[in-house]
Amino acid sequence: MEIETFDLFSRQTPFIGMDRQAALTQAKVAVVGAGGLGSHVGSLLVRAGVGVVRIIDRDMVEYSNLPRTAMYDRSNIGKAKAFVASQKLGNIVSGNRVDGMIENVAASNVKDVLAGFDVIVDCTDNMDSRYVINKFCVRNKVPWVYGAVLRDEGFSSTFRAGGRPCLNCIYRMKTKETEKTENAGVLGPAVAMVASWQAMEVIKLITGLSEPNFGKMLRIKLDKPVFEFLEINKQEECEICGKNLPKNMV
Ligand SMILES: [Zn+2]
Repeated sequence: MEIETFDLFSRQTPFIGMDRQAALTQAKVAVVGAGGLGSHVGSLLVRAGVGVVRIIDRDMVEYSNLPRTAMYDRSNIGKAKAFVASQKLGNIVSGNRVDGMIENVAASNVKDVLAGFDVIVDCTDNMDSRYVINKFCVRNKVPWVYGAVLRDEGFSSTFRAGGRPCLNCIYRMKTKETEKTENAGVLGPAVAMVASWQAMEVIKLITGLSEPNFGKMLRIKLDKPVFEFLEINKQEECEICGKNLPKNMV
């Protein structure tokens, strides 16, 4: 490890060790969405030393984004989030790669956008994208971390194929649209908390530091506060991971 890199990570290697730090350096993570969640997750992963981070978002920075992110400022208004994020995060760790992609993840392009990554992080705000990510990850046996926030409440779970439930085991494609932040509102601290949880789940998946949050949905609510884990059961009739699918579909 170069002197600069050694110094850079000198406050986390006493905890996680050099081997886990090296594992982070070798890892490739795709962050889908560069809004409130994605800008925090991308920043935490790059700063933790993840070697390749792709940030995917087709939207431009708007004034209404600024309260929930430390990534953007007024000078970035109207510029592509993926571009701004990759520019800022690409200048932190020497030798790593931050790749901004101005795209919307959909069934038509998911293979091109997400193939080859070790972990996918859902930082989107819509169920259509999450179903696409879920299906891709089940088919390709890629672990992924779900996240959602509204008002002061957040949810996260970590999925990995192999006898475990998938996102569709919960929703069975019936949930098309969730409440939107435009109508219900959202507060930055709840976003940052879920994003921190998601980034830690990615670190656990890559390094084996401890068991990721498989088979459970974390629910946090900051005004009470609530911090609880809800069981997720695998559904044998699930359209994505169920036992009745042809073998080549799973
Ligand atoms: Zn399923």
